[in-house]
Amino acid sequence: MNVKEEIRIEGSDWGHMKVAKGEHIRITAIEGPQVADLWAFAQDDTNIFLSAKHTRSTLEKLMPAVGDALYSNRREAMLTVVEDTSPGTHDMLMSACDPRRYEILGHEGYHKSCAENLCRAMDDIGATAHELPSPFNTFQLAF
Ligand SMILES: [Zn+2]
Repeated sequence: MNVKEEIRIEGSDWGHMKVAKGEHIRITAIEGPQVADLWAFAQDDTNIFLSAKHTRSTLEKLMPAVGDALYSNRREAMLTVVEDTSPGTHDMLMSACDPRRYEILGHEGYHKSCAENLCRAMDDIGATAHELPSPFNTFQLAF
């Protein structure tokens, strides 16, 4: 696999990249167990996005495996899991963490959140997420 672009995202941080049809992305946890929330949006219309609930109902299972597509809210395949060398599963049930979740959990002070990170990533590319889709939580065990 040719590497076109490599980005390193530190814990609690964000990144973004454009991926064309036929291109691959590889997500690697470099430092210990770390969940990586993944969102995908159509480049020409952010109203079309990777949807955990549409993926679950289309696949008729809770977690995708190698060979499974990940579907958009329009029920079109957006991504496909082509390889998985991780030891765990990838949750599609949990919502993204947000400031209110950390408040409920009793965290004192500011804590970065995946919901805010998505907004920052969209700002970086001059786009808007019209809603906050549930992420594909790579490396996160489901309940
Ligand atoms: Zn999070």
